[in-house]
Amino acid sequence: MREDCLFCRLISGELASYKVYEDASIFAFLDINPASEGHTLIAPKKHFESFTELGAEDVAALFEAARKITLALEKAFSAEGSNIGINNGEVAGQEVPHVHVHVIPRKKGDGGRGIKSVVWTETDRTDLENMAEKLKKAL
Ligand code: AMP
Ligand code: ZN
Repeated sequence: MREDCLFCRLISGELASYKVYEDASIFAFLDINPASEGHTLIAPKKHFESFTELGAEDVAALFEAARKITLALEKAFSAEGSNIGINNGEVAGQEVPHVHVHVIPRKKGDGGRGIKSVVWTETDRTDLENMAEKLKKAL
């Protein structure tokens, strides 16, 4: 629990939220400014700023909860699919520095697009081999 963290304060109950699910390590609640009907945020109860700080068990718990909630959202709101994602870091649009997964239910004809609509930079598509090598070296 971090006193200066908005989501820690929602998780502790100090601030009100529309909680939809909780277990020993996970807290899920409606986004206050939803991108579509049912837009839900899923967060570890423990404070981590970034996705890359999580351990394997934290990741498993976070994404298993995201999977369950995605199924429930699609059923509850008759959605035909969802966007499931994390804004990781300020440069990627993260506004609240407590890691959370967005599940945004999608319907045919809703006017939205896919994950590559988040950003599209000029990238050399002829050099994918070097790109792969560079990444493999870092792993
Ligand atoms: P991100 O940009 O990935 O950090 O997402 C932060 C999300 O938190 C935004 O979609 C906000 O609408 C949402 N948000 C901000 N304050 C609250 C709140 N008090 N309760 C629920 N959602 C919130
Ligand atoms: Zn926090």
